[in-house]
Amino acid sequence: MDSRAVREAMVHKLVARGLQHPVVQQAFLAIERHRFVDSGLVAQAYEDTSLPIGWGQTISKPSVVARMLELLCDGHTGRLGRVLEIGTGCGYQAALLSHLCREVYSMERVKGLHERARENLRPLRLPNVHLIFGDGMSGFPSGAPYAGIVAAAGGRDLPTAWLEQLAVGARLVAPAELVPGQQSLVVVERTPSGYVKNVLEAVLFVPLKSGVA
Ligand code: SAH
Repeated sequence: MDSRAVREAMVHKLVARGLQHPVVQQAFLAIERHRFVDSGLVAQAYEDTSLPIGWGQTISKPSVVARMLELLCDGHTGRLGRVLEIGTGCGYQAALLSHLCREVYSMERVKGLHERARENLRPLRLPNVHLIFGDGMSGFPSGAPYAGIVAAAGGRDLPTAWLEQLAVGARLVAPAELVPGQQSLVVVERTPSGYVKNVLEAVLFVPLKSGVA
């Protein structure tokens, strides 16, 4: 599939919807989303829609991924340092992150998806992406502190481990149901004097679950 033209069209739409960050735009142009979905869904891979990836999970729609990554990179023109992703899923966002930061640590609690992501990413040969099978609720202390943390699954609250593992000056971008029944995108910045939390628009992510499966 020669998908460069469809990816360019997708990026044009993302830009029309507000995506500004040039490095995030480059990442969306470079990474072939159709490689991360089942063969029966390839025709829909560049539509702005979430798609099933098995095990009851979904790959988030491109405009939502763009929003999260732009919030993560906001204010940085170069690459971020080490970034932690919670919820590898099919590995698409981890591949995008490989263009935006020096090292990507990506955790997935479903063994089958962790293995699927490994297969999807293998041909891309991205030496800075490290996939970890495990419960991301505790973060990944051995890589901490992180220049950014991004979660693709939302719980009732933001796990304290994530906040503790942020470097000063770094940002956490995650969905959370801070008000029951209302999941929102939340950005927390760790400043020298403490944490600054901003609750943004309503979103709909899969639930953050504890333990492994
Ligand atoms: N970024 C992914 C989106 C996957 S959907 C992609 O590009 O495909 C969110 C993922 O979070 C699911 O695969 C789900 O299994 C995973 N997840 C949920 N709770 C988790 C936890 N506690 N630790 C790690 N992964 C978790």
